[in-house]
Amino acid sequence: MSVFKESTLNNTFTNSLPADKVEGPERRQVFEACFSYVNPTSPKKASVVHVSQEMLSQLKLTNVDNELLEIISGASSIENSKPYAMCYGGHQFGNWAGQLGDGRAINLGEVENENGRFSLQLKGAGQTPYSRGADGLAVLRSSIREYLCSEAMFHLGVATTRALSIVLSGDEVMRDVLYNGNPALEKGAIVCRVSESFIRFGNFEIFAARRDKVTLQKLVDYTITNYYNHLGKPSKDVYLKFFQEVVDRTKEMILNWQRVGFVHGVMNTDNMSILGQTIDYGPYGWLEDYDPNWTPNTTDAQNRRYRYGNQPSIGLWNLTQLANALYSLIEEVEPLQDILRSYKNSFEGDYLKMMLNKIGLQSLEENDQSLIEDLQQLMESSEIDMTMFFRHLSNFDEKVNFLATIKMCSYKNENDFLDFEGQWTLWLSKYAERLASNFLSSKERKLNMDAINPKYVLRNYIAQLVIDDADKGDYTLLKEIFELLKNPYDEQPHMEKWFAKRPDWAKDRVGCSMLSCSS
Ligand code: AMP
Ligand code: MG
Repeated sequence: MSVFKESTLNNTFTNSLPADKVEGPERRQVFEACFSYVNPTSPKKASVVHVSQEMLSQLKLTNVDNELLEIISGASSIENSKPYAMCYGGHQFGNWAGQLGDGRAINLGEVENENGRFSLQLKGAGQTPYSRGADGLAVLRSSIREYLCSEAMFHLGVATTRALSIVLSGDEVMRDVLYNGNPALEKGAIVCRVSESFIRFGNFEIFAARRDKVTLQKLVDYTITNYYNHLGKPSKDVYLKFFQEVVDRTKEMILNWQRVGFVHGVMNTDNMSILGQTIDYGPYGWLEDYDPNWTPNTTDAQNRRYRYGNQPSIGLWNLTQLANALYSLIEEVEPLQDILRSYKNSFEGDYLKMMLNKIGLQSLEENDQSLIEDLQQLMESSEIDMTMFFRHLSNFDEKVNFLATIKMCSYKNENDFLDFEGQWTLWLSKYAERLASNFLSSKERKLNMDAINPKYVLRNYIAQLVIDDADKGDYTLLKEIFELLKNPYDEQPHMEKWFAKRPDWAKDRVGCSMLSCSS
C-alpha cells in the first residue's frame, strides 16, 4: 500500500461478506454472494484529465505519481487489496429487473484515515460478471458529467458520492448516443469515485427477491455495524431504526435536489444509495425554465417517471421497495408502513419550509402556502429560469422595479411575457406585503437566501461546453468550471458570465437538454 501509506487498508466489505466462488469477468448469475472478485482491464495508455486536490488531501495523497495513475486507471490494484464488483438487483422504471450489479464499476478497496473512511471505485474500467453483454466502459463525455457534478453537488451541500480523478484510458469506445442507429467511436475514460460505501437499495433487494434471507441478513448487519453503528447492535428493533434513518436521509437528499433544481434522471432502486447519497450521475440535468414535468432523460421521455416534480414520490416508491426487501427480517408490516408514512407526512411540511426559506421567509404564516404555489405556477407558465430567479430575489426591494429582473429571467420573448406582467405585479405586491411581517432585516434575509439559493450550478449547456473542449484535448474550461462550482453560493464577479440563462443554441442540442442512458 505504498501510495496510501498514510491510511490504513480496511477492506470491511470483502472481509465481512460472502464472495462469489468464481472469479473473473465471465458473465453469470451470482448467488449467495455479495460480490465477485474481478480485475480492471488494463488501459491502453492512461493519461490524467483532472484530479480533485481536495479528494487527494482527504486521502492523504499529494499528487498523481505513476503508481497512483496506475491505480486510478485500472492498470494495477492497491497493494494487498483485491478488486471486486458488487452484486445487486433493482427496480428499473417501476419493474423488477433481476440481477444487475456493478456492470462497469470495479471497487478497488477501502482505506481509512483521520479524515474518514473511503471506498474507492473505478467507473468504466472494464467488464465484470454483471456487465450483461455490455462493455463495462465509459466515455469521456459521461465521465466528465459524473466527475464535475458529484463534486458540484458536494459543494452545494447535497449528500453525494465524490470523485477523486478522471483519466483517459487511451482506448476507443463505441457508443450510439441517442440509440438511433448512429454509433460512433468516442474516447474512453475512467472516473475514480469515492464514498464511505457504494451499497444501494438494490443490494438488499436481490437477496429478498431470491428468498436468500441468510445473505440478506449478513448484508443488513454489515451495513448497520459499519455505517449505522450509532443505532446499536443489529436486532429487529435496530432494523426498524435503520430503515427509519435511511428514509430520513433519502428524504433530506431529495429535498435538496428540489431546492437546487437537480433532476437525477434515473431513480431506479439500483441507483439509490443506502447512505442517502446521490449516486450514479447519468442522464441527469438542471432545471432551467421552471417546468416540474421536465426530465433530461430521453429514455424516459414517454412516461416521465423521473421528472423533477415526481422525484419526492419516487423516493417513497423506492423506499417501499427497500421496506419489502427488509420485511423478511422484521416480519411485521405495520412498523414498516408507519415509517413509510413518516416520509409522506413530513415531506410536505419540510418541502414547504424549504420553499419558504428559498423566498426568504422563516416561519409559516396563513397565506404562505398559496404565496408559494402561486409563485411556482407563475414561474412555470412564464418560463422563469429557476437558479437566476431565486438568486435575484434576495435583492428584492419594493421600491425598485423588480418586474424588469423577472422579465430577464424568462425564456419567453418580450411580447409573450407581456401576458404575465399583471400576474407578476400582483404576486410581487403580495410578497412585499408579506415581507413586512418578516422579522428579518433585508440584509439578513439576503444572507439567508444566498446561502441556500446557489448562484452557480452545472447548467446542462455548461457541462456540454466543457465536454466539447475536452474532446479536443483542451481541459482549460473543465478546470475553470470545476473551480467555479467549488463555491456555488459565493459571488464570483469574474465568473459572472456563468450566471446567465441557457443560450438559445442549447435549447434542443443533444447533451444540453436531452440525454440518454448510453454512456
Ligand atoms: P445505470 O442505468 O447506468 O445505473 O446502469 C444500470 C445497470 O447497467 C448497472 O448494473 C450498470 O452497471 C450496468 N451498465 C450500464 N452501462 C454499462 C456498460 N457500459 N457496461 C456494462 N454495464 C453497464
Ligand atoms: Mg446505476
